[in-house]
Amino acid sequence: MSTTVTPKQILQDVFGYPDFRGDQARVVDHVTGGGDALVLMPTGAGKSLCYQIPALCRRGVGIVISPLIALMQDQVAALQQLGVAVAFLNSSLDAEAARAVMRQLQQGDLKLLYVAPERLMTDGFLNFLDRLQADQGLGLFAIDEAHCVSQWGHDFRPEYRALKVLHERFPDVPRMALTATADAPTRREIVEQLGLEQAQQFVSSFDRPNLHFRVTQKTNAREQLLNFLNAEHPNDAGIVYCLSRKKVEETAAWLKAQGWDALPYHAGLDAATRHENQQRFLREEGIVMVATVAFGMGIDKPNVRFVAHLDLPKSLEGYYQEIGRAGRDGLPANAWMTYGLGDVVSMRRMLLSGDAPEERKIVELQKLDALLGYCESTVCRHQTVLRYFGEAHPGDCGQCDNCLTPVDTWDATQPAQMALSCVYRTGQRFGVAHLIDVLLGKETPKVAQLGHTQLSTFGIGKALDRAQWRSVYRQLTASGLLNVDMAAFGGLKLTELAKPVLRGEQSVWLRRDPEPVKRKTSTAER
Ligand code: ADP
Ligand code: ZN
Repeated sequence: MSTTVTPKQILQDVFGYPDFRGDQARVVDHVTGGGDALVLMPTGAGKSLCYQIPALCRRGVGIVISPLIALMQDQVAALQQLGVAVAFLNSSLDAEAARAVMRQLQQGDLKLLYVAPERLMTDGFLNFLDRLQADQGLGLFAIDEAHCVSQWGHDFRPEYRALKVLHERFPDVPRMALTATADAPTRREIVEQLGLEQAQQFVSSFDRPNLHFRVTQKTNAREQLLNFLNAEHPNDAGIVYCLSRKKVEETAAWLKAQGWDALPYHAGLDAATRHENQQRFLREEGIVMVATVAFGMGIDKPNVRFVAHLDLPKSLEGYYQEIGRAGRDGLPANAWMTYGLGDVVSMRRMLLSGDAPEERKIVELQKLDALLGYCESTVCRHQTVLRYFGEAHPGDCGQCDNCLTPVDTWDATQPAQMALSCVYRTGQRFGVAHLIDVLLGKETPKVAQLGHTQLSTFGIGKALDRAQWRSVYRQLTASGLLNVDMAAFGGLKLTELAKPVLRGEQSVWLRRDPEPVKRKTSTAER
């Protein structure tokens, strides 16, 4: 080694960027020096450089584990353009091409290898890595989209769980896990499942100040979408998310009939059509992609000017990831959503009717509730979102709908005190359904068995109905007075913020439910 090249020089000479952004420099230094890292950065923040540059700085080849076969090829092609010695291995290569890559690895001709987890974890390949390690060394393991290890997330990949053995088998090779989706429980799961207890955590701010949030009450969703597009995005590229494939097809056809350059994307389309539509969205200007959540992971188009949701997403972290595809160039972009109580009911029913285990359903319902809390929030939406990710937002954003048009609210101080004190008196371990039973004075078997008929809060809440209490609890959760304890199957706990309310030192104003809440008591209530 005569001259050492610094990470900064590589950033400039290879990638052509003058400076690191955010946590990049710290992560790169840490991993280049041999440390393990957990990197949480919002979509578009620049996670790739965090492993690419250390791989170029360190001896041997860096192994990047990525679940996205379709994108691997593009990423590798882009890096090759920059002159990086890189290749990929996945099921899209034929035997001959795969052998060629293995030969390059053996000869020490590669600095980076992108590989699908199922390929990496074969015995043959692990043995091959043993030899490489002994020979020229392994620079690092980078586990991209690390949230795929979470069984409760929407991108669960069972193969990811096997990656834990990398640590045991290659204890000297630094490992990093990277993701844009990680609330606290997911983060814990990543650490645990990948054995990253010793890793340094780099958690970037998830604030995206250039995203302007708006939630509108659903009346006629299509017309509302059209008005929004006409008024604000006549020639812009954007994504419209729908829940079902059928609705994607119908909405895309309808937008097309209205003169928009709209394309559908969902997992039910054949691979060629999906690829073509994705390429058109990336390369052409002003395409509106109407899609299910199957579209978007890894999409790097800087000038997506809006993300619109015609249906409710499943969780706030899912939502944040979906809207994170807008405004990657840093210019203003809209995150627009229509939301109606009908959606809530059908989403609840869908979650409950699936065959997931009971505890998982409870967690999913709580996640849905956090999202509803966001929808119903009366305060700055940046604040609500960031609080969910465990971050404080300084002041109001001044750009979201709640900042621009103050919301119709009611003084809910007394009900809030009742709701909070009911949480306290029942021992801070129950979910909303039970708490409401107590407030309404319902003598269910559970209430009776626990002796909760004896509590001072039993039956004190008859002035509100079940739906109104749900709304109170959702909003109290959304504004941080209550915390959902995912580990305790979604029991609610008081936070510090609840104390001044319980002591009568602070009043609580909640959003008035705009529609009368009509909902039959169903399984969804329990
Ligand atoms: P992520 O994986 O976090 O979603 P990427 O790694 O794909 O984000 O990076 C997003 C975009 O930002 C890419 O176009 C990338 O080239 C660019 N980028 C990353 N780091 C920098 C930097 N330090 N300076 C300028 N552009 C950067
Ligand atoms: Zn705001």
